[in-house]
Amino acid sequence: MICIMLCVFNKSPDFTDLPMHQICVYCASSPDIAQVYKDDATTLGRALATRGIELIYGGGSTGLMGHVADAVLAGGGRVTGIMPHFMQEREWGHKGVEQLHYVADMHERKKRFLVNTDAVIALPGGCGTLEELLEVITWKRLGLFEKPILIVNTNLFYDPLLAMLDRCIEEKFLTNAHREMWTVVNSANDVWPVLGL
Ligand code: AMP
Repeated sequence: MICIMLCVFNKSPDFTDLPMHQICVYCASSPDIAQVYKDDATTLGRALATRGIELIYGGGSTGLMGHVADAVLAGGGRVTGIMPHFMQEREWGHKGVEQLHYVADMHERKKRFLVNTDAVIALPGGCGTLEELLEVITWKRLGLFEKPILIVNTNLFYDPLLAMLDRCIEEKFLTNAHREMWTVVNSANDVWPVLGL
């Protein structure tokens, strides 16, 4: 099993032939953030709509979640939000998203994000986004998730996390081959060449 995983991760990943019908985006709920992050989220949402790729996300209306969903909807694209009941009760759901699926809890939500998605994209975010990103990397390490994971390093936001991951590799908590589990791009526009779109 270890051999199989190392062989897989040692190969330089080529995602360009993969089908891309749905993409799960992890991102911030906080609205009180710099414009550069909002602009990149809008750019990503527009590009998803242009390419006919459905957005799968947390269903929120605030922060980068709101910006990416608004941009997909404005471009005539498809959006599915997945949200636990307690957030519905707090009325955190995006009013413009018709496909809002309610689930029991945060664990079910995170599982549902990944069921049909063809890739995961992490925009900048807070503890929720970081947790979701590290969980999907963990799942990939365990062979439970095999799709591309792209980290959008807008404004070098993810540099400290990438340094932490480098340290994990240096100190052998991860192997060098595990670096292939994620792909870092500088901005939302740089996602598409990696996916061959
Ligand atoms: P964060 O990166 O900490 O802003 O977390 C983003 C994640 O937080 C989302 O995936 C949700 O799990 C959750 N979340 C926090 N606040 C909200 C909100 N107002 N509406 C929807 N989801 C939220």
